Amino acid sequence: MDNEGLIAALRNKPGLRLGVMGGCFDPIHIAHLVAAEEALALFELDQVVFMPAGNTPHKGRPVAPAEFRYLLVAVATANNPRFSVSRFEVDRQEVCYTVDTLEYLASVTPPDTRMFFITGADAVLDILSWKNPGRLLELATFIAATRPGYDLSRLSGLLSELTRRAPGVAVEERVKVMEIPALAISSSMVRERLAAGKPVKYLVPEVVAELIEKSGFYSRQQDHGFQGLPKATSPQG
Ligand code: ATP
Ligand code: MG
Repeated sequence: MDNEGLIAALRNKPGLRLGVMGGCFDPIHIAHLVAAEEALALFELDQVVFMPAGNTPHKGRPVAPAEFRYLLVAVATANNPRFSVSRFEVDRQEVCYTVDTLEYLASVTPPDTRMFFITGADAVLDILSWKNPGRLLELATFIAATRPGYDLSRLSGLLSELTRRAPGVAVEERVKVMEIPALAISSSMVRERLAAGKPVKYLVPEVVAELIEKSGFYSRQQDHGFQGLPKATSPQG
């Protein structure tokens, strides 16, 4: 679903509880879906919007084109009526920070909407130590899903620091830890397995595995020649 469609569907929902799941999704895997589904249930969300990152220049490694990552997220979430995917970051030319995305969503949803930004324990640390943490915590509640290999004690250190730096914000109330069944799966691991010719069946949704195989992305030979999908014709700009 594109931004316009999503917003149209939710525009009139009073007290909307909107989950936002940001990430590179290079590629999407089942732990992303488990985290989103758990947040949906625990925080009684109406909808979780997946927000694949655009083509950011300085990721430090080659990233599959945004259009392809978007496509994988779209097919992976298609059969869940409470999941949708936004083109907002994919369509932006400039670098997009979480705070920009949340400002955008706040501007197109009803004023009494509550936003919940869903992340893994690793990403919440990065996001909240990066751009404009005070504003981020005003815009959304952060849900940090437990993730194998990431120590949550670092998070409490950051939270006390933020409390000192942003005294007006109820930091502790704005960052919630969510226990999810531990899944030691990452996109890096999926990419490495694909590059090594190992199976990723059951680590990613079946349709995602099929599209990856069909595209040749992440395989040993990187000369896949994916030209992107036709540009969306909706007037969202
Ligand atoms: P990469 O290895 O390329 O960093 P990733 O698996 O971390 O990929 P991202 O696209 O970076 O995937 O993550 C999107 C969001 O999903 C982040 O908030 C991340 O912390 C969370 N996430 C990813 N995998 C897990 C997992 N196994 N358990 C909990 N959260 C996860
Ligand atoms: Mg990651």
